[in-house]
Amino acid sequence: MDNIFIHPTSLVETHHIGRGTQIWAFAQVVKSARIGACCNIGDHCFIESGVKIGDNVTIKHGNKIWSGVTLSNGGFVGPRRLSTTQPYSLRAHLPGIDIGYNKRHWLVTTHIQEGASIKANAIVQAGILIGEFAVVGVGAVVMKDVPAYALVVGNPARIQGWICQCGQPLKFHNTYAQCECCNLNYTRARNTVKLATF
Ligand SMILES: [Zn+2]
Repeated sequence: MDNIFIHPTSLVETHHIGRGTQIWAFAQVVKSARIGACCNIGDHCFIESGVKIGDNVTIKHGNKIWSGVTLSNGGFVGPRRLSTTQPYSLRAHLPGIDIGYNKRHWLVTTHIQEGASIKANAIVQAGILIGEFAVVGVGAVVMKDVPAYALVVGNPARIQGWICQCGQPLKFHNTYAQCECCNLNYTRARNTVKLATF
């Protein structure tokens, strides 16, 4: 059906899977999760209910993608793990106080925008926005929003440079950069980088 591949050892409970998507061994995709077309979900991944994944997204082995996360088209998540949690400490149950886990009012949305790449073992705090084509380095701990095209590394993650849509580093001269690989042009104003429109 629609060239969808679901490995026989995986547990897929949702019907919302786009054509051409592959789900590999021992992965679990919970009911009501949505996965677009031509995605690649690696071994031992867990995709929780309510997660939205666009088209052409690759999620490498062993990732846990929790409720509230939206991955836009073309995103990449390296091996083990994109980990998102609630923004403050949860209690599973507090007698007489209406802030229990099951109320789920704590749930916040995490957006991984088009083309963004999250490398192995990076951790992304809940409620964060990772901008278009941004790159989160190996093991980075992301505690605040990442601008489009930024490369962030470390704990807490900080901007170390800027990356072209093609994946090559950008070298800015004042407020302008041209990719040495693909020739795309960019402008920068403080921490906002955009494709040049001239
Ligand atoms: Zn480029």
